[in-house]
Amino acid sequence: AIRLSGVDKWYGAYHALRSVDLEVGQGERVVLCGPSGSGKSTLIRCMNLLERPEAGLVEIGGVNVLERSTAATHALGRVGMVFQQFNLFPHKTIVQNCTLAPVLVRKQETAVALERAMHYLEKVKIADQAHKFPSQLSGGQQQRAAIARALTMEPEILLFDEPTSALDPEMIKEVLDVMVELAGDGRTMVCVTHEMGFARQVADRVLFMDQGSILEDRDPQSFFASPQTERAQTFLGQLL
Ligand code: ATP
Ligand code: MG
Repeated sequence: AIRLSGVDKWYGAYHALRSVDLEVGQGERVVLCGPSGSGKSTLIRCMNLLERPEAGLVEIGGVNVLERSTAATHALGRVGMVFQQFNLFPHKTIVQNCTLAPVLVRKQETAVALERAMHYLEKVKIADQAHKFPSQLSGGQQQRAAIARALTMEPEILLFDEPTSALDPEMIKEVLDVMVELAGDGRTMVCVTHEMGFARQVADRVLFMDQGSILEDRDPQSFFASPQTERAQTFLGQLL
C-alpha cells in the first residue's frame, strides 16, 4: 500500500502539489487524470521519490521512504515504473534491458535473469524481439519491452505515467491489452492516463487532479456519470 499525507511539492516558486493526501490499498488499481500541468506526473513521481516532496509523508508498505534507511531503500525497490517515453537503454538489446537491473541490483545469476526476462517478454508478447535493439522495434513493442523490464524486478506496486500517449493510435491497444492483463494479477497499480475505456474497465478508483490538488476520488461509474466538480465536468467534456 501507498500512503501520502500532506505532500507539498514546489518547483522554485511554483506550488505543484498542494498538501495532497492519498491512500492506495494493496492490490488497488487507481487511474489518475486531469488537465496538462495539473501535477499528475509530479504526484506519481513523488510515490517513488523520483521527485522529493518538500513537506509531508510518503509511506510504502508502512515505511516512511523520505527517511534514508535500509527499510526505505527496500520499500522503494518494490515500486516499478513505466514512462511515456519508454526510457529503454538504446545500446542494449531488449533482453539485456530486462536483465540489467535483476543482475546488478538483485544479484541474480545471469542465467536465471535471462530465463525470467524471457518469461516476461513472452507475457507481453514480444519474446521474438528479444535480441533486437530498441530502435528496431515499433513504439508499441518498445513500451511492452519497458513493461517487461519493470516486471523483471517483480514490483508489488507498478506506476505508469501516460504509457500510451507517445504511441500511434494503432499501437495503443496492444499496450492497453497488456495493462488490462496486468491489472488482473493483483498488483497495486497507479496509472496516469486519459484512456477512459481503460479506466472504466479496470480502475477501482479514478482520481481527478487540477492545480496540484486531487478534486475527485471516486469509482469510475459515478465519476463518469456525474463528476462532482465543474472542472472535472469540463475536463471530461473535452475528452469526448
Ligand atoms: P501533463 O499532462 O502535461 O503531463 P502533469 O499533470 O503531469 O501534466 P506535471 O508534469 O506534474 O503535470 O507538472 C505540474 C506543474 O509543475 C506544471 O506547471 C509544470 O510546468 C511544473 N513542473 C513540472 N516539473 C517541473 C520542473 N522540473 N521544474 C519546474 N517546473 C516543473
Ligand atoms: Mg505528466
